[in-house]
Amino acid sequence: VMIMAIESSCDETSVAIVKNGKHILSNIISSQIDLHKKFGGVVPEIASRKHIENIDPVITEALEEANVAIKDVDAIAVTYGPGLVGALLVGLAEAKAIAFASKKPLIGIHHIEGHISANYIEGDFKPPFICMVVSGGHTHLVHVRDYGKYEILGKTRDDAAGEAFDKVARAIGLGYPGGPKIDKIAKQGNEDAIDFPRSYLDNGSYDFSFSGVKSAVLNYINQCRMKEQEINVPDIAASFQNSVVEVIVNKTIKAAKELKLNKVALAGGVAANSKLREEMEIACKKEKITLHYPSPVYCTDNAAMIGVAAYYEYINGVRHDMDLNAIPNLKLSDRF
Ligand code: ATP
Ligand code: MG
Ligand code: FE
Repeated sequence: VMIMAIESSCDETSVAIVKNGKHILSNIISSQIDLHKKFGGVVPEIASRKHIENIDPVITEALEEANVAIKDVDAIAVTYGPGLVGALLVGLAEAKAIAFASKKPLIGIHHIEGHISANYIEGDFKPPFICMVVSGGHTHLVHVRDYGKYEILGKTRDDAAGEAFDKVARAIGLGYPGGPKIDKIAKQGNEDAIDFPRSYLDNGSYDFSFSGVKSAVLNYINQCRMKEQEINVPDIAASFQNSVVEVIVNKTIKAAKELKLNKVALAGGVAANSKLREEMEIACKKEKITLHYPSPVYCTDNAAMIGVAAYYEYINGVRHDMDLNAIPNLKLSDRF
């Protein structure tokens, strides 16, 4: 089964050709980071316009690199939510046009199901498992019962993990996108330098809250400024990262143990974080849990993960009509 997948939910225009939900024949990612950098974040209107410019060349490149023609493709998959509505619409309109013109089936994919499915690309990782989804807009602890069968155990009550990284990075002057920059500079800092709060919420909850630690960082910086103390960016980055990672690791391990599942996966952009990978690795080893996470390129937004998710939808007979619309606030539970 050959699938062409399109992803345009945020600021990456990406097209992939995926064979049998496993072999990534191409995965072209055109990132708009440089364009949005000077604004300190993604500007939706600019993102939509850039997707329109990028989409056709990216499709051509994906087909050429895979050495595949549209006639060899079995289905056209596309992210239809969640994301920026204007950005989603560009990919969706393109996917519908190609599907209609080439008489191929259209398959709409939930972006987060894509992030989770990135774990099926490398190695031989299969459900059931506990998946910790940590991305720019989501922090969900998910029980993946089977392909396409999910149960949400908990989620963030305020900021997403990636959002917290990005906001803290901006506050300490690291710029956009903040996650990778905090990851890098934290390596030079002392993670025990500042005792930022860890929020576990009520006993036994699988929910998360990152607004407290974010505020604590902002307060700390303001206090330094008032006392005319030096702001040690590596120490702040390392201490902040440490407190976020600790909560994520502990809640994930707790879920795996309570559900008696010896398999854990990470998904989403923050899954690329080296400290999170390292600490989760240590914790899983201790509990004899198998840990899996995608290579960094499959953690952040890409179309390959959408093509992998679409393969399992395709073999389950899922097809969408031409009236499929973009749903900016599509919930995990709407799909699952
Ligand atoms: P969502 O998937 O929830 O709709 P998104 O698509 O914008 O949001 P992703 O592309 O999955 O998010 O991930 C981007 C996020 O990952 C950003 O917040 C970014 O800062 C963060 N991120 C990327 N690399 C790292 C890293 N090494 N350490 C920490 N955070 C990272
Ligand atoms: Mg992005
Ligand atoms: Fe994403």
